[in-house]
Amino acid sequence: MTLIHEEQLKNFIDGKWVEPSSGKATAVINPATSETLVNVPLSAASDVEEATSAAKKAQKTWALVPAPQRAEVLYRVGLIMKERKERLSQLLTMENGKVIEEARGEVQEGIDMAFYMAGEGRRLFGQTTPSELKDKFAMSVRAPVGVVGIITPWNFPIAIATWKSFPAIVAGNAVVWKPATETPIMAYELAKIFEEAGLPKGVINVVFGSGSTVGEAMIEQQDIRVISFTGSNEVGRGIAGKCGQRLKKVSLEMGGKNGVIVMDDADLSLAVEGILWSAYGTSGQRCTACSRVMVHEKVKDELEERLQKEIAKLSIGNGLDESIKVGPIINSKGLEKVKSYISIGKEEGAKLLTGGYIMENGDHKKGNYFAPTLFTDVKPDMRIAQEEIFGPVVSLIPVKSFEEAVEINNSVEFGLSSSIFTQNVNQVFAAQRDLDTGIVYVNAGTTGAEIHLPFGGTKGTGNGHRDSGVAALDVFTEWKAVYVDFSGKLQRAQIDVE
Ligand code: NDP
Repeated sequence: MTLIHEEQLKNFIDGKWVEPSSGKATAVINPATSETLVNVPLSAASDVEEATSAAKKAQKTWALVPAPQRAEVLYRVGLIMKERKERLSQLLTMENGKVIEEARGEVQEGIDMAFYMAGEGRRLFGQTTPSELKDKFAMSVRAPVGVVGIITPWNFPIAIATWKSFPAIVAGNAVVWKPATETPIMAYELAKIFEEAGLPKGVINVVFGSGSTVGEAMIEQQDIRVISFTGSNEVGRGIAGKCGQRLKKVSLEMGGKNGVIVMDDADLSLAVEGILWSAYGTSGQRCTACSRVMVHEKVKDELEERLQKEIAKLSIGNGLDESIKVGPIINSKGLEKVKSYISIGKEEGAKLLTGGYIMENGDHKKGNYFAPTLFTDVKPDMRIAQEEIFGPVVSLIPVKSFEEAVEINNSVEFGLSSSIFTQNVNQVFAAQRDLDTGIVYVNAGTTGAEIHLPFGGTKGTGNGHRDSGVAALDVFTEWKAVYVDFSGKLQRAQIDVE
């Protein structure tokens, strides 16, 4: 079955499919097989400039379309995505490597977001509030920011794009989008869907290319008023600095070092399932992946044994095969990074229970496969317990109490997701209060966000903004306070108050 008909993708600017002005391109590689899927443009700064002017022009008209009508386009986008779910999922597995079941889940997340944000077209709630003066009306309304720039990573190439572009569009903005070079196919497919759904030209513009050229050029563009970024801390910090200099609004969603707490009264079978799913799903390349388990010493041995038994059953390979549970790492650089943490962990004195190697036998040598890995007797300050590895590597950290587990959970620079397995209702409520992360799960792993709730983290994970849910609208709108005085005379606030 041929799913990709093009040899080279094109940029989507002002409603037209255009070659990059640089004339340059690079190959998109299937991480499961190392085959080239398609070529993707490496655009120049001038392409960003063109996309920004198209967006600026289109936004003026788009902002005047009533929001419920803007939402109609998103409903159509959702319907087309639904109809095309299997095709999109297969393409997603091919370009990203995640197993097909997870790819279907990710595409579904985009569909859910389309319908949810379309609903916002009839809400976009502001506030009305009494004025302190007679015959005066006061309210606040959401106004679009104008042109927004979105920069997305390869690990959720369609879901994250929908978290950002759908709220931006329903709120009356136009978008310039730079997808990750590793996973441009989802962006290409989504742009085609927008086109088919009847989004006016210029409201979404996709410029493919490297972060250092296209991403940087987006930050330079004065007319791009917001940058919404998801990716690594290193790049996010750089973007924040540059946006700060330009007084540009910036929303950052970055790394995680997510922990699961397993208490001595936990349902261990459930805990094992939750850890496996959140640690080894997407080969540990989720920002919410579980990479630390704080286990009560009373159940440590049993948990170790059960986890090892279940890890041995995980099938690893090309995610298009329905029986595969763990796919490849995105590229060889990622693979080498994961491998380097195995030596770091051993040198630090952690005990390797299973995995810890690149898989190079049989079909595995064609792709970037890393064996699901479990360390135990990890100390909270070891690098493997502090740094984001972004691979299928879990560290078990023994603890003596709930308080110690919470303290260790909060001792990392990140604050995205955490979870606790316990039957104790008092500990459940204390945990949701004390775990310093943007997302907390009880009796589930660290992944599984639903699109109508805010998504993001505390501390080094972000800068206080949220994707997803109604909170996403705060990134893409400005609050405007409106006062209507119908008294027919000058009434001065704070002064003419009787
Ligand atoms: P990167 O930060 O390398 O890349 C993210 C995006 O930024 C890509 O589109 C990339 O472009 C672009 N980019 C790179 N350099 C620049 C630059 N100088 N200016 C502007 N844009 C730039 O991260 P990865 O894609 O490698 O993703 C992995 C990381 O992302 C992990 O650390 C993970 O934790 C984090 N992440 C966080 C999530 C969250 O919601 N908290 C969700 C998903 C991932 P290109 O690569 O094409 O050059």
